[in-house]
Order: sequence, then C-alpha cells, then structure tokens
Amino acid sequence: MKEQKNLVKEKTLLEESKTTFLSRISHEFLSPVAVIKGYANLLIKREDDLKKLDYIEKILKSTTHLETLISDLISSSKFSAYTHTYNFDHIDIQELLFDVYEEFLPIAQEKGLNFVLRLPEYPSVVIADPQALKTAVTNLVSNAIKYTREGKIILEGKKEGSSIKISVTDTGPGISQEEIKLIFKPYYQGKISRTKEVGMGLGLSIVKDIIEAHGSKIEFKSELGKGSTFYFYLKLV
Ligand code: ADP
Repeated sequence: MKEQKNLVKEKTLLEESKTTFLSRISHEFLSPVAVIKGYANLLIKREDDLKKLDYIEKILKSTTHLETLISDLISSSKFSAYTHTYNFDHIDIQELLFDVYEEFLPIAQEKGLNFVLRLPEYPSVVIADPQALKTAVTNLVSNAIKYTREGKIILEGKKEGSSIKISVTDTGPGISQEEIKLIFKPYYQGKISRTKEVGMGLGLSIVKDIIEAHGSKIEFKSELGKGSTFYFYLKLV
C-alpha cells in the first residue's frame, strides 16, 4: 500500500516537472521565433534600404539563439547519463582545443574580450568521444564568454603527470555559495542567466554527463566578482 502511494507520488512529481519543462521550453523557443517573424515582416514592408541590415542582423541573432536551444536539447538527450551513444577514439587535445578556440574567437572579440589559447607543447592524445568532448569544451567556453562582461577568457590544456588538465577561466561574475550545488542540475539557471534569457540551463548538466562518461569529473573554482575556472582531467595515452 505504502509502495503504491510512493509510486503515485513519484508519477505526479514526474508529470509536474514534465509540465513545467514543456511550458518553459515552449516559451524559450517562442521568443526568438517571434523576433525572427517580426523583423522578417518589417523587412518585406520596407522600401528603403537603410534599416534592412539592422533587421537582418536581428534575424540572424535570433536564429543563432534558436540554434543554441535546439542543439542543447539534442546534446542533452544524446549525451545523457542514461544513454550510451558514445563513440570512443584516440584524439589529439591540441587539435580539439584549437578548433573550439577558432570557432569562438570572433564571438569573444565582438564582445571586446581577450580570448587566449594555451596549448600543451606536444600532441596530447586521449581516448574520448570527439564530438562529445568538443560539446563539453564548447559549452564551458560559451558560458565563459556569455557571462563575462569584460576581461579575459583562457582556454588551456596542460600536462599534469600522466593526465591532461583542460580548463576554461574567465573574469566573469563568479558563482555564489548558494549556487554551487545547483549549477550542474539540468534546467537550473542562475539570476544572471534568467534575466537575459540565454540558454535553458542545460549547458553544464551536459558537460557533467559527458565528462563523467569519460571516467572523470567536472570541477570549478570561483570567486564572486572575480571570475571562475571550470576544469577536468583526462588520462593521456
Ligand atoms: P545556462 O547558461 O543556459 O543558464 P548552464 O547549465 O550552462 O545554463 O549554467 C547554469 C548556471 O550556472 C547559469 O545559469 C549561470 O548562473 C551559472 N554559470 C555557468 N557558467 C558560468 C560562468 N562561467 N560564470 C558565472 N556563472 C556561470
């Protein structure tokens, strides 16, 4: 009888979180779509060219926003702790970090941030799922850039004993004591994130699942008002 009651309670809780999640993502998806539609409509009506570039820029920005939301949702189910879609292979960390750096350099520069890449001296081979590991590093760099108003972002790969330490350091707002336990939970968004409507609170939970699937652990050090460093270790081959 008690077991049955517990099952019903669990089911109700699951249903509730499903409803909250669905209403939240619908809202998240609708806002960039509304911006795209609005500016596309304006674009059709405008006869002079003056404002067109501005509208196209806004359309592109919202399309990128939508793309991030969709890709976060896909990664979250693909690399979740409950699925096993990993394809492990020998990969060079130098190459992977360089790829992520190249992708994000224009975005960091556009924000006026100094983006620095520090690579290990020699090719550093690890066994990893290249796509998953790139997603994890990408999410960390993307957060660092997103939450940092000014200063520096450092993406670094450093040999430490028989492992390589991969870290992303920023001069952003840092993480408060109360948030320490929450930031890796799926759908958790801090105050800074919620007010700006960027992302869905999935980024770090995806990183956690991926790094744990590689037999490691994602960790961070942070000082409020000064910045944060997210890091993890992988065994070198
Ligand atoms: P999202 O960025 O979509 O909100 P994440 O799962 O990537 O979701 O991050 C969860 C929360 O952790 C963010 O909402 C933010 O409050 C905090 N956070 C993540 N990265 C950083 C960072 N580099 N600096 C400060 N806060 C961060």
